[in-house]
Amino acid sequence: MAVETAAYSEQTEIQRDITEMVRQFADEQIIPNAEHYDHEDSFPEPIVEQMKELGLFGVTIPERYGGMGLDLTTYAMIVEELSRGWISISGVVNTHFIGSYLLMKFGTEEQKDHFLPKMATGEIRAAFSLSEPEVGSDVQGIKSSAKKGEDGRWELNGQKMWVTNGLGSGVVFVLMKTDPQADPPYKGMTCFITEKEPWAETNTGEYEGLVVPPKIKKMGYKGVESTELVYDGYRCPPERILGGEEAGVGQGFVQMMDALEVGRVNVAARGVGIGQRALELALRYSQERKAFGKPIAQHQAIQFKLADMATKIEAARLLTRKAARMKDAGERSDLEAGMAKLLASETGKECVEECFRIHGGYGYSKEYEIERLYRDAPLLLIGEGTSEIQRMVIGKKLLQRHKI
Ligand SMILES: Cc1cc2nc3c(=O)[nH]c(=O)nc-3n(C[C@H](O)[C@H](O)[C@H](O)COP(=O)(O)OP(=O)(O)OC[C@H]3O[C@@H](n4cnc5c(N)ncnc54)[C@H](O)[C@@H]3O)c2cc1C
Repeated sequence: MAVETAAYSEQTEIQRDITEMVRQFADEQIIPNAEHYDHEDSFPEPIVEQMKELGLFGVTIPERYGGMGLDLTTYAMIVEELSRGWISISGVVNTHFIGSYLLMKFGTEEQKDHFLPKMATGEIRAAFSLSEPEVGSDVQGIKSSAKKGEDGRWELNGQKMWVTNGLGSGVVFVLMKTDPQADPPYKGMTCFITEKEPWAETNTGEYEGLVVPPKIKKMGYKGVESTELVYDGYRCPPERILGGEEAGVGQGFVQMMDALEVGRVNVAARGVGIGQRALELALRYSQERKAFGKPIAQHQAIQFKLADMATKIEAARLLTRKAARMKDAGERSDLEAGMAKLLASETGKECVEECFRIHGGYGYSKEYEIERLYRDAPLLLIGEGTSEIQRMVIGKKLLQRHKI
């Protein structure tokens, strides 16, 4: 007797519609313009303005705050499409998404009411800051600190590094040491919601004490700025401690690590997106370019490359969506998010390199899109935790789950 089965569908109707909309946006607005902004290393303002109109800054923010109220899985699908266009565009929304996640999960009602409506429209954009000049992977080693003053406000001092959207953002979620004696150190860390003037190198008035040095020059991931942030006597009111002063002091590390879990799904989706674009470019070029009397796609060695690329991308996509779905279901997904980030970022880089090889000498020319992808892809191996750090997370979790 035949068993009745449901038609296979990887996406819901809403997910299909929104993914198609973003894919079209990437094809029409991002891909044709990416080369220009990459070359100039300038902020893609017109593209970002259109993203605001499409509501892409509020995808995961609840409808009552003016967002779309969609889940992480749908967000990951959107990020894949944006990254297929250009990963710098997903970089503009990534830290913003992490900031909104922090507010939705840990923020007080006042903090949500104050920030989320403006963040849903993109009127203010958010940055997320853990790293420092001497500290990246080992977050517990941060030195920047905050001390409560007699007037009840907290004074922030220290230097932060590699802040994506560091200049254009209007709010930075920043991790500071608030108890230098804490043992272990992570228990003495707090997340401050620091407001600033977007695009101001030197903040004045109520935001005085926050300076943004010139943007860091990078090999790729251009267009979206990465900066240092210098907090020098910046005064933060206690109601801008994430979750409120009473509940939030000492919780910053745990809050930020929770947010990194969704951030990792996000970077994984970017790996899938850039890998997908590399595959598309390779499929096209290999059918156009001829060698030894036939299109190179007819040589089996090239077909094997295409086959491996497509297979790995699909595996990375499925793992990324699994991690997102687990998080949406309220389950702990640090193991899966770590696996997804590791596999998808490495896959993205591998596929870009294979596409580059398939392009032969032309892959080295700036006239071909693959040259930009080749400079962009390595970032994914580093941001939100390097591959080595993902392996540490995965290994630790495996041993916890299978303790004998
Ligand atoms: C373009 C860009 C944008 C970024 N944006 C942001 C941002 O918005 N906010 C933010 O806070 N940070 C950001 N970062 C920083 C990023 O998160 C860090 O660069 C990353 O976490 C690695 O830290 P690190 O560079 O200090 O390397 P390190 O921690 O110094 O590591 C150096 C090497 O040692 C390895 N290593 C370290 N510890 C171990 C270990 N225990 N075992 C084995 N190997 C180890 C690492 O894997 C790496 O290969 C950004 C970085 C870049 C490049």
